[in-house]
Amino acid sequence: MNPALSSSIRLFPGVGQKRAEAYERLGIKTAADLLRHFPRAYQNRGHIKLLTETHHGEICALMLTVGTQPRTALLKNRMTITKFSAFDDSASCTVVFFNQNYIRDVFHTGATFRFWAKVQIAGNRYEITSPQFEAALPGKSLPEFTPIYPLTAGLSQKLLANACGIALTYAFEAPCDEILPASFRRKKQLPSFAEACRMIHRPNTMAEIDLGRSYFMYEELYQFSLGLAVNRQSRRCGMPPPMPDRELTPFYRALPFALTGAQKRCIDEISRDMGKEIPMSRLVSGDVGSGKTAVAAASIYLCLKNGRQALLMAPTEILANQHYQELSPLFEKLGFSVGLLTGSLSPSRKRAVRAALSAGTLDLLIGTHALLSAGVRAKRPGLVITDEQHRFGVSQRAALAEESGTVRQDGFEPHVLVMSATPIPRTLSLILYGDLDISVIDELPPGRQRVDTFVVNESYRKRLNAFIRKQVSDGGQVYIVCPAVNSEEETDGEEELDQGGEVIGFDFEPGADTSAEARQPHRPHMKSAVTYCTELQQIFPDIPIAFLHGKMKPAEKDSVMCAFASGSVRILVSTTVIEVGVNVPNACLMIVENAERFGLSQLHQLRGRVGRGDRKSYCVLVSDTESETAKKRLQTMCSSYNGYEIAQRDLELRGPGDFFPSQGGGARQSGEFRLGIASLCHDLDQLKEAAEAASATLADDPELEKPENLAARQAMERLFSLNSHAMN
Ligand code: ADP
Ligand code: MG
Repeated sequence: MNPALSSSIRLFPGVGQKRAEAYERLGIKTAADLLRHFPRAYQNRGHIKLLTETHHGEICALMLTVGTQPRTALLKNRMTITKFSAFDDSASCTVVFFNQNYIRDVFHTGATFRFWAKVQIAGNRYEITSPQFEAALPGKSLPEFTPIYPLTAGLSQKLLANACGIALTYAFEAPCDEILPASFRRKKQLPSFAEACRMIHRPNTMAEIDLGRSYFMYEELYQFSLGLAVNRQSRRCGMPPPMPDRELTPFYRALPFALTGAQKRCIDEISRDMGKEIPMSRLVSGDVGSGKTAVAAASIYLCLKNGRQALLMAPTEILANQHYQELSPLFEKLGFSVGLLTGSLSPSRKRAVRAALSAGTLDLLIGTHALLSAGVRAKRPGLVITDEQHRFGVSQRAALAEESGTVRQDGFEPHVLVMSATPIPRTLSLILYGDLDISVIDELPPGRQRVDTFVVNESYRKRLNAFIRKQVSDGGQVYIVCPAVNSEEETDGEEELDQGGEVIGFDFEPGADTSAEARQPHRPHMKSAVTYCTELQQIFPDIPIAFLHGKMKPAEKDSVMCAFASGSVRILVSTTVIEVGVNVPNACLMIVENAERFGLSQLHQLRGRVGRGDRKSYCVLVSDTESETAKKRLQTMCSSYNGYEIAQRDLELRGPGDFFPSQGGGARQSGEFRLGIASLCHDLDQLKEAAEAASATLADDPELEKPENLAARQAMERLFSLNSHAMN
């Protein structure tokens, strides 16, 4: 609608090939993209300190008047240094710049500037080096809040802020598309798109920042709900293949254990679905270790014994392999053939597996989402199961429905079962999974041990290392989970200035603690898997340690995981890639670094990786957080061991944002659904409102054809297709 917004970033002043590429790395191609590149924090430069109020090393805003004309001197190795003195009502200060001779023409005696700087104090002398500065002209007020944008090499805060300024003028040139319905915006008193952008990028007050963010949060929740609702509408209605034989006795006999009551109930529900004349669309939700695989196996058995083929998909190769290892002996014993298809198989192997599937000689195929890719055709498909559904997200569910349509070979519509290990509070599951029937496995197999859980801070590091040593000497194995893959790049001076000071931060990471207290500076340093692994190897030179993260090649990941599973690696330092499903019964200690950065449900998942065998197991949550809310959250983990209870608590304390299928606290993995700002949604009511607005829109305009819904439709399709591409 507003054509200026689609103008390319390449047409912006000062943007050449290189800079355009830098923008593109941030996903910015147009003015509109720029407006949706939200600041991750704001510096409060409105809070001006007197020099005497500062302490050594503090990063803050100062209002200083130039007292002496700047003078430049030549240093060794051709560097120059420019110095002058400046003062406020309390003291005077030396201002230093390196290699910036033009500074001489900027600062004139008597002129006043607002500086953002790190204050160095030696005795009673103050000095600031390479500060950021803005001229304070009489009659013109400086903005209080300075946005801090996520950056990439080749771009600076100033460049981004200026580019955003240009994009903002475009936004005000003509009316912009509104994704949110006008009635909804009126009801919630939300600003227009252009105003919301202005509030985010050029806020005057804290209240404006909040309102601008609300606008975009609702916008995203609305698109998300719209997508779910569309999914629901397109619920499959073909005929499923007939499955008259639902006798499970031989399967039960082949199982090495007796099923729990909850498992049996779920299997009953599934069996009943499979006897119906509409295809099953069911979610099996069960805590970690509740035995979802056995439930899946029972439904696979029903499918196979009725002469149909089944597909079982896992989000990672590790999990696919694990399922294969567990299920192939079971089904082969029962007289069925089982195949494995993952991305890292050789092309000829893949071809052979696919051929067996389409010839109908293969009964059960287990694999990763490579299964979803074109060219996989079952001859007589009867059932498609997706494990650890929360990793896949909604778009994959849509893709799955489509795909199960394309695997349909003989006019029948296969049954669909999805399994989620994220316990979701009932209220939320109705919104997020309203398109599926739900079975809950709310009981753990007997004899499960409780994983004793502790929250400690850095001061326990020595004792923790001793504890690691003890577990390993006793023959056990240890997981250590870090929030990041690589250590943060060395911050140069400017970046340091961007990180410090009075910052109102919003980390767009669902795992991060976004409570008011956590918005304070001095966030604990983030541990990273690769660096930490190296550090640990120095502490424990005799213990085999390895690292694992999502950016590694599947084959590398597999070989590390196999080494850990076989016990040749004793300590595994990892990102959250190990969160789902991995089963190494000998592992008995789970340490989570920077635990405050993870959601409770995620911590519960991680804790579920230990306590799987006979060894007494422990979970240690390491956090230096000073936020009381974060501490309280972490304490929940010590008192509760029930995933549903923990999830409910997470919902109360942090809102539903955490439950959106989205990037984990660590490295982003493919196949995860990404939402940006909406993961900060702190209030279930907001999600409900957005969902209601979406269903109202669809009730009025089921195909989203009306002009006022066009923008929403395009946005929704973009959101969902973008995410389904992340799969491949
Ligand atoms: P999840 O629900 O997390 O996927 P799994 O299906 O991997 O759990 O099961 C966890 C472990 O519990 C596996 O080792 C499995 O063999 C075992 N198990 C499952 N059901 C039972 C049961 N009814 N009795 C005993 N052990 C069980
Ligand atoms: Mg599982």
